[in-house]
Amino acid sequence: MTSHSNSGAPRRFPVVIVGAGPAGLTVGNILRAAGVDCLVLEAETRAFIEQRPRAGVIEEWAVRGLQRRGLADTLLARAQLHTECEFRFAGERFRFGYGELTGQHHFVYPQPLLVTDLVHEYADARGGEIRFGVQDVRLHDLETSRPSVSYTDADTGERQLVECEFVAGCDGARGVSRTVLPETTHIARHDYGIGWLALLAEAPPSSDCVLFGIHPNGFAGHMARSPEVTRYYLECPPGDDPENWSHDRIWAELHQRLGADGTPPLTEGPLIEKRVLDMHNYVVEPMTYGRLFLAGDSAHLTAPIAAKGMNLALHDAFLLGDALVAHLGKDDGSGLDGYSEACLRRVWDYQEFSQWLSEVYHGTSSGDEYRAGTTFARLRRLFTSPAAAAAFAEQYLGTAAAY
Ligand SMILES: Cc1cc2nc3c(=O)[nH]c(=O)nc-3n(C[C@H](O)[C@H](O)[C@H](O)COP(=O)(O)OP(=O)(O)OC[C@H]3O[C@@H](n4cnc5c(N)ncnc54)[C@H](O)[C@@H]3O)c2cc1C
Repeated sequence: MTSHSNSGAPRRFPVVIVGAGPAGLTVGNILRAAGVDCLVLEAETRAFIEQRPRAGVIEEWAVRGLQRRGLADTLLARAQLHTECEFRFAGERFRFGYGELTGQHHFVYPQPLLVTDLVHEYADARGGEIRFGVQDVRLHDLETSRPSVSYTDADTGERQLVECEFVAGCDGARGVSRTVLPETTHIARHDYGIGWLALLAEAPPSSDCVLFGIHPNGFAGHMARSPEVTRYYLECPPGDDPENWSHDRIWAELHQRLGADGTPPLTEGPLIEKRVLDMHNYVVEPMTYGRLFLAGDSAHLTAPIAAKGMNLALHDAFLLGDALVAHLGKDDGSGLDGYSEACLRRVWDYQEFSQWLSEVYHGTSSGDEYRAGTTFARLRRLFTSPAAAAAFAEQYLGTAAAY
């Protein structure tokens, strides 16, 4: 094997996890709970990942999965429960009570709080090893039974080499794991051709549920994050410059796109995040290469249209963590063999839902009368057909009996 280290003999761990997001930290926690040693390598600092704002809506099955693994105590004590969402279009409001239909709900818990809980549990409670601020992570010999990972240590500036049996590639959409896949790996991509201005407002939520504004000017969304902070979205051209959106323009558009008869005005506040996301998805198939197993956004990106990405990251992490524990404990290797296929069934289902929902959100603002007409047909069906309502609730909550 080639030497990739300039600081002595390589260390050895059964599993190296690249990335300390929800996927990587959940895998790490599952391994540590089973007494399996692992090393997490994270490019950013601990303070940074504990504050990076992103997701907030978590599905009930995902929370129960965390709970079963002893990872949801704080979440269960602090998260809000949501049982309804509201569509606003043609100047009217339409409440959709999915909790009543299914008996299930969403948990609203900001991603940075979940990451904080998971890091604390992994590093402080379960004694897991983690290196923050690592640079230039490289994966080696993945197609052999003795892969390794090298990186530049943040403190010493020296290259370190870690030998292992498996590498979990949990390094998100811009990580290194996906870049080492061979050309035979399929990466299916979908570009919606739409941008969203993603905003965080230091303002209390203006409704007790998620709001979807379907408006000829473009989609607008409202999602509570905490009693003091609300996430808003505004559809905009892809690649738009956030600086084109002044404070006044943003609030004027939010009021207009989310306005409906009989609703109080939105509560305004300072905007503490303002960035443009270009809506695109991809799916890597298979999610494995030799001893490398991808999990979360490194394997599949789901634009925040349907609030599914973190849920899928957790689903992958549960399957991968359990399969690694079973394999390394010599109980059973079949979980690793079937890992990619088992993940991808739910991934593709969520991708399809995201595409369906995108048309509902963006059809009326497309400038195409035909798409606007079919968008309204979809919305009317949701509120007139119990079968359509049940199907939507199942996809919105991710509660299908099988994927
Ligand atoms: C605005 C917004 C809103 C969203 N809302 C929702 C929602 O409501 N519900 C939902 O389910 N999802 C939502 N998502 C998606 C969700 O945030 C992601 O799907 C989720 O973060 C994926 O988790 P992950 O662990 O796979 O990746 P990440 O959270 O991206 O974690 C990957 C980690 O790897 C690290 N890393 C990257 N490269 C390297 C490297 N080379 N070496 C070492 N470390 C590296 C990164 O710093 C990061 O900490 C939203 C996303 C955005 C942007």
